Amino acid sequence: MQRQKSFENGRCTLYLVPTPIGNLNEMTPRAIEVLNSVDVIACEDTRTSGTLLKHFGIRKKLIACQNFNEANSAKGIAALLEQGLNVALISDAGYPLISDPGQRVVDEVTSAGYNVVPLSGPNAMLNALVASGLIVQPFVFIGFLPASVSECRTKLQTYRDYPMTMVFYEAPHRIVKMLSTVLEVLGDRKCCIAREITKIHEEFLRGTVSELLEAMKEEARGEMVVIIEGKTGETVISEDTIRETVGKYLAQGMRTSSAVKEAAKELGLNKNRVYDLVHEKEDEAV
Ligand code: SAM
Repeated sequence: MQRQKSFENGRCTLYLVPTPIGNLNEMTPRAIEVLNSVDVIACEDTRTSGTLLKHFGIRKKLIACQNFNEANSAKGIAALLEQGLNVALISDAGYPLISDPGQRVVDEVTSAGYNVVPLSGPNAMLNALVASGLIVQPFVFIGFLPASVSECRTKLQTYRDYPMTMVFYEAPHRIVKMLSTVLEVLGDRKCCIAREITKIHEEFLRGTVSELLEAMKEEARGEMVVIIEGKTGETVISEDTIRETVGKYLAQGMRTSSAVKEAAKELGLNKNRVYDLVHEKEDEAV
């Protein structure tokens, strides 16, 4: 066990400092105070952070800590603490570590016995979740799904039975592909897209996955968070029920494609999901 009495042990400290996700007024007085007090600021992109820090009149030595060099940065930051220096870690926006570099840094610093002190502040996931209109507790933060459709599908399959609200980050150029895969794997659940949070064009789109998919086909732009409801009583339809329903329509003389379509309509499910299930059964039989 390790106990950290942050403000009593006199040890050097790594501060985790969140920065605005859009609106600069969300930079807290404590964030400014801490950034002014440390010896070194580790950041993702020295140019991006340089601009932010200049805006707040903060002049400090900056070092880069990016995903590709995080292992080395982590050691470097631990070495600075060892020399008796205090360090702040920031990312381009929001919290470090949340879909941003920092995990290895925290591992290294805590293992070396130094303090890791978090500050409160801006973060896209929580803003989006609380305003989504979906159930906020329990929730699971997933972040970015893999870019490849097949890997994305596989990941989503592992989340299909989660009963908690799911929070994803997504880039505008991938949102249509992502929502199409969500529709296929999770079905047409309640969904919210929160985009440009805290900025002038902030917008919340609340509806079902299929509705938001259509909207995104028209206007896929802005930084966005996607919130999707967990599996609910309404969406729990067993595979046996799906097969039986398809079987009922087949028994009426329908072709497979029509039977799948009718079954999907009757059960309120995505057609591709029903189709995949029926084909899985056929594949097993081969
Ligand atoms: N560390 C950040 C945080 O704490 O939220 C997240 C960084 S991650 C690299 C960037 C992603 O966060 C974007 O692609 C988007 O999904 C989400 N994001 C960041 N700012 C946002 C904003 N103002 N509105 C909506 N989503 C935002």
